[in-house]
Amino acid sequence: MSLDEFQQLPAPGDIETSRQRIKFCAQQQLFKHAIAKENGGFADSFQQLVDKHQALGLSCRDSGLILSINAHLWGSVFPFLTYGSSEQKERWLADLISGNIIGGHAITEPQAGSDVNALTTEATKTDTGFVLNGHKRFITNTPIADILVVYAKINNKLSAFIIKSDDPGVNFTNSPNVTGCTSATMGDVLLQNCVIPANRQLGKTGAGNMMIQHALELERAFIFAGIAGIMDWQLKQVIRFSRERQVNDTHLGSHQAISHKIAEMKVRLQSIQLWVNECARLKDNKKRITLASAQTKLFASEAFLQSSLDAVHIMGSSGLTEQNPLNQLVQDAMASRLFSGSSEIQKNIIAALLGTGEGFKG
Ligand SMILES: Cc1cc2nc3c(=O)[nH]c(=O)nc-3n(C[C@H](O)[C@H](O)[C@H](O)COP(=O)(O)OP(=O)(O)OC[C@H]3O[C@@H](n4cnc5c(N)ncnc54)[C@H](O)[C@@H]3O)c2cc1C
Repeated sequence: MSLDEFQQLPAPGDIETSRQRIKFCAQQQLFKHAIAKENGGFADSFQQLVDKHQALGLSCRDSGLILSINAHLWGSVFPFLTYGSSEQKERWLADLISGNIIGGHAITEPQAGSDVNALTTEATKTDTGFVLNGHKRFITNTPIADILVVYAKINNKLSAFIIKSDDPGVNFTNSPNVTGCTSATMGDVLLQNCVIPANRQLGKTGAGNMMIQHALELERAFIFAGIAGIMDWQLKQVIRFSRERQVNDTHLGSHQAISHKIAEMKVRLQSIQLWVNECARLKDNKKRITLASAQTKLFASEAFLQSSLDAVHIMGSSGLTEQNPLNQLVQDAMASRLFSGSSEIQKNIIAALLGTGEGFKG
């Protein structure tokens, strides 16, 4: 993995810096992996994508940036690739891949998160296109996104639409924020009689549920590539601290209670890497990843939280100081158990694929 290419990444700052950081990743060709040449990509593998994301995580140590680029990639770039008409690909793809425009996806609403069937945002068909009304919440890359793939119902059929930040009747806000992944901008999307032309529908009417599951499957499979890079750095910090910190005339790590925690952190990290690589192997062999991505997301987010708790605990009270970047990772890990579908939802998916659990009529 090469770290050099990410050395010049601008430090986190205001909203404009958040935009610059995503654009910098695009300049490093981060959005060209696993995409065919005719669509502007490298025609390489998902494994190469995973390696690059890990290198970014190790270098930037910023879960917010990892969240942002994954929302852009799986929320916009890949849905355009998979469901876009030739006209839509021609119009948007090159700009998304080059970072000229920033994207994301808007599924969640104030009253509907895990249960996508409960979404209430509506699209009404007109002679020239659609009028959208609704309210989306916790949308990554809002307000810096230029476009979002927004999910709404036409006559109760969940469907997808391309919404531009400057469309009439659209308002992207900068809140509410959550305490994890804070360098990613986040906000609400308000749609009040938002008028769009007919060529902004993405995919078929009624295909929304399948499109959401497809986007989330990819996000669950690969978002932990970047986070594994951050956890690699986290582990190195803890090992260094355990060697340098003296307790009872010996280094902290010589106490088995500490060294065992570190050993467990190593096993968790490598297990996440194995899971992410397995998802890449399946995708590169054109196999389904529904089960593997749910298992990856469940294992990786719980492992990230446990390792982040262990890391700050090993550092004692200095681990809990505001300036300690390892402290922020605990909040990031809590957020990771929720975004792209919570741990409970991953368990529901895994159980359903095993022919049991919620919804199974035995
Ligand atoms: C950092 C971050 C970034 C995000 N980015 C985006 C984004 O870009 N786009 C977007 O659309 N959304 C985004 N979200 C929203 C996220 O997808 C939702 O928060 C998530 O799906 C959970 O929905 P909810 O918060 O409404 O919780 P709820 O669905 O209300 O769930 C509350 C609790 O109940 C549990 N629960 C719910 N249903 C079940 C069930 N059937 N069985 C057992 N337990 C259940 C959940 O696991 C959770 O613990 C983001 C969230 C975070 C934290």
